[in-house]
Amino acid sequence: MSRGKKNIDPEVSLLLKRIAKSQVESGLKEMVISRVNIKRKREKLITPGQKVQPVVGFSSPDEHCRAISECQKCSLGATRTKFVYGVGKAKADILFIGEAPGRDEDLKGEPFVGRAGQLLDKILAAIKFTRGEIYIANILKCRPPSNRDPLPEEIQTCLPYLMEQIRIINPKIICALGRISAQTLLQTTTPIGKLRKQWHNYNGIPFIITYHPAALLRFESYKKDCWEDMKMLRAKYDELKSKKIIWP
Ligand code: SF4
Repeated sequence: MSRGKKNIDPEVSLLLKRIAKSQVESGLKEMVISRVNIKRKREKLITPGQKVQPVVGFSSPDEHCRAISECQKCSLGATRTKFVYGVGKAKADILFIGEAPGRDEDLKGEPFVGRAGQLLDKILAAIKFTRGEIYIANILKCRPPSNRDPLPEEIQTCLPYLMEQIRIINPKIICALGRISAQTLLQTTTPIGKLRKQWHNYNGIPFIITYHPAALLRFESYKKDCWEDMKMLRAKYDELKSKKIIWP
């Protein structure tokens, strides 16, 4: 006997249709629930107003800066006036790293623009460099209130941005300006006085440490030490240039 459609009992046919309809409805319901769950999970990961961007893989400092300039990952995002990414040549051979923006930097959105910045310009000129030839950045991109020291958790949160900056700029020499920068990058608590006057290695990059220009303004006697550090830096630059590791 044929098992064609015509021979199916109408009641059985109706029952089969109801089962099929309920399966479709149940499938749709599961899809809706699953979409709601994904949306809730995303909402947990994204705080309002936060830009979702990868933290690595940028091709230029400008592109990286644009992607992270609305950062609110730590409380300093709420108190800053301007985000201070860094300034200088995109592929600079020398990268100077300070600790955090101060009042003048926070207002202008550029690192080292106050009295300490003017002194840094003089230091650079003394070793025959200009700002346009080097790059200047900080450990933190936002000003700590009243210029207090950065907190460990602020450093930990912000440090990946500096790591990416270093990767993008790919400097041949790094110079830490001050204790916070030196100790953060070397992961040490050794006093700055003991870290100076020698070359360190930061992920294969020659790394030197000197006093922060703000400290030079407070303690005149540090200037002579800083000059010794800067002469070492210039000598290393000339050496790398003579070995064609740095190209003119
Ligand atoms: S200090 Fe760094 S981590 Fe904190 S809000 Fe500013 S950019 Fe983000």
